[in-house]
Amino acid sequence: MSSFIKYRCEGCKNEQVIFSKPSSVVNCLVCNNELATPNGGIAKVNAVELEILG
Ligand SMILES: [Zn+2]
Repeated sequence: MSSFIKYRCEGCKNEQVIFSKPSSVVNCLVCNNELATPNGGIAKVNAVELEILG
C-alpha cells in the first residue's frame, strides 16, 4: 500500500509531504537535505514522520 506521509526535515524543520514510494530521490525544498531515497519500493527517510495522510 502506498500513501503520502508528512515529514519534518531534520536539518531545517521544514514540513514536507512525501510519497511513501518515491521513484527518485526527494530533497528538502528549503535546505536540499536528502529526505527520501528509493529503496526496493520503500523510501528510506532522513526525516521525522509527523502524519500519514493516506
Ligand atoms: Zn530542510
